[in-house]
Amino acid sequence: MRILLVDDSRAVASVIGARLTTIGHEVIVAENGEVAVARFRDARPDLLLMDIEMPVMNGFEAAERIRALEANEDCAWTPIIFLTASDTPENLVTAIEAGGDDFIAKSVPEAVLEAKMKAMARIASLRAELSRANRKLASLANCDGLTGLYNRRHMDACLDVQWAQATRIGASFGLLMLDVDHFKLYNDHYGHQAGDDCLRAIARILADVCEKANGAGLAQGAFAARYGGEEFSMILPSVSPDACARVAGAAVAAVRGAAIPHARNADFGVVTLSLGGTRTARAEGSLVPLFRAADSKLYEAKRLGRNRAELG
Ligand code: GH3
Ligand code: MG
Ligand code: MG
Ligand code: MG
Repeated sequence: MRILLVDDSRAVASVIGARLTTIGHEVIVAENGEVAVARFRDARPDLLLMDIEMPVMNGFEAAERIRALEANEDCAWTPIIFLTASDTPENLVTAIEAGGDDFIAKSVPEAVLEAKMKAMARIASLRAELSRANRKLASLANCDGLTGLYNRRHMDACLDVQWAQATRIGASFGLLMLDVDHFKLYNDHYGHQAGDDCLRAIARILADVCEKANGAGLAQGAFAARYGGEEFSMILPSVSPDACARVAGAAVAAVRGAAIPHARNADFGVVTLSLGGTRTARAEGSLVPLFRAADSKLYEAKRLGRNRAELG
């Protein structure tokens, strides 16, 4: 393990440091709480062994700052063991209440020191595994299983945040709704499995269009989501009305350009989609009218012959 050893007494630091090195740990030393917080940030130790009474910043305050850093940066929990002059019950209570996980007396026998290090390393590695699993679960819960795009639930959550930001500063905003043309006929003709593959291909194309819009600085934070079934949406924050129309046109053109055969899409012979969009130069009020406007434009795009973008 990489251990951050914090003590203002050089004598203590060198005795305990030597013991830890002997049993195979890498030791980084800090002489007070403030230096410890800085070293923690740079070196990301697996464990801290920290004195309580120190000049500049004491061990309790340093522990609090380190816990805050962990929470802010969403990084794994690091065990903090306080070093105390003696192992009295009062010292134990104070150490645990200050955010420490255990305490040991500076005069601790070598075998006990080694055993405590082992136990803490085990807990730290379990905690790290758990936080990895949690991150994975969160990402699964946000993504649509078929296409890997954000699902409807996560889209709604992101959209709320982005819309709130946009209304706060009166920024421009664009919302596009996309629906695959004659997709029921596609399934009927090629089978449901091929239909799924087709939806995956369309999802990749739309994600790519959003990425390009982001990259070109047309819509910072643009993303595509699977709205449901064969319907997708594209959220374009801070997009100018003109750029919004260009992105919409690009999405329709890219899907048609992919030339996925669709024998029953009579007018085109390939997979196409229709798009209804709405944009505002200045976000205000609620999102509901935006959805309503995009929906009615989508209906219009279908009515006017499909494979097209209609924007309000
Ligand atoms: P329109 O051009 O008017 O949109 O016609 P459409 O056939 O696309 O519209 P409709 O809403 O009648 O049919 C949508 C079809 O999309 C029906 C449904 O079976 C299919 N679909 C929805 N979700 C999935 C999916 O996850 N996989 C597959 N393969 N098909 C799906
Ligand atoms: Mg001290
Ligand atoms: Mg539909
Ligand atoms: Mg459709």
